[in-house]
Amino acid sequence: MTDIAFLGLGHMGGPMAANLVAAGHRVIGFDLVPAAGDDARGHGVEIAADAASAVADADIVITMFPSGAHVIAAYRGDDDSPGLLASARPDTLFLDCSTIAVDEARTAHDLALAAGHRAADAPVSGGVVGAENGTLAFMVGASEEDFSSALPVLEVMGGRIVHCGGPGLGQAAKVCNNMILGISQIAVAEAFVLGERLGLTHEALFDVASHASGQCWALTTNCPVPGPVPTSPANRDYQPGFAGALMSKDLGLAESAIDLTGVDAQLGRHARAIYKAFADGDGARQDFSGIINTIRAQSTA
Ligand code: NAD
Repeated sequence: MTDIAFLGLGHMGGPMAANLVAAGHRVIGFDLVPAAGDDARGHGVEIAADAASAVADADIVITMFPSGAHVIAAYRGDDDSPGLLASARPDTLFLDCSTIAVDEARTAHDLALAAGHRAADAPVSGGVVGAENGTLAFMVGASEEDFSSALPVLEVMGGRIVHCGGPGLGQAAKVCNNMILGISQIAVAEAFVLGERLGLTHEALFDVASHASGQCWALTTNCPVPGPVPTSPANRDYQPGFAGALMSKDLGLAESAIDLTGVDAQLGRHARAIYKAFADGDGARQDFSGIINTIRAQSTA
């Protein structure tokens, strides 16, 4: 049994913490929103009065926050409250599972080491369903030693765990993967609208492309039109799935990485602009495959 502090008990963190309890670990949680703590308590998570007391006796501190700014602020603390790093015992393993920028992940890692701790970035894919079922994919950036320490706990919450390299490289893998996904979902949506205009049925295009070189997850799992893949969000009025707001966020992180590296990633930047407009409009809470409706609406008659 490991003593685990779990901070951020939202859509993802709540079920992840519940799975750790179910696997026999002692989990002390904290969330700024009391209702999130109440839900987690119902799954056996002990809820601390504040973040500092949640981490005081932990072997591992897991954070699952909305953004890198939240992670760094919580690690550092402020005049009113000591940070997580100052409140934990020396040599605690800090495992950040939030999706944040690569440079933010490296800053968080450096802060943890400077405070006498160990650290790993371990963002996930698989969404709330993966979190509930303990089948998340983890992309981990850490030393070999810290990866080995994190692995038994990650195996409880995940189905596939990849050690991507040193600090920040878990986040690097996540932004690269989601940049592929954002671009390919737009490409598939454009192809279906083009097919419609050319007189092609959805079924005919799907039957060809799903067995040809256009085959990809955005087509065969997240097909943006109803019918060919009955489980895709298009069949339930684009209820997510993976929300447009999250795709816009992740492509923003990809764009930060593009800026950082100077890569000529024109499609990545364009996908970011398209999904930002989608999320700023009415797409934030829709599945990101709903971009097909924007493309259709913006196409000339
Ligand atoms: P969420 O907003 O539901 O949960 C985040 C929680 O963190 C909130 O309950 C918030 O109150 C809490 N929080 C923020 N700062 C805190 C602090 N200092 N101390 C304690 N609690 C704090 O978000 P989510 O959907 O669970 O996503 C969490 C992370 O996982 C994000 O980085 C997101 O990009 C990533 N992610 C989400 C999904 C998804 O499908 N939801 C999929 C993959 C990755």
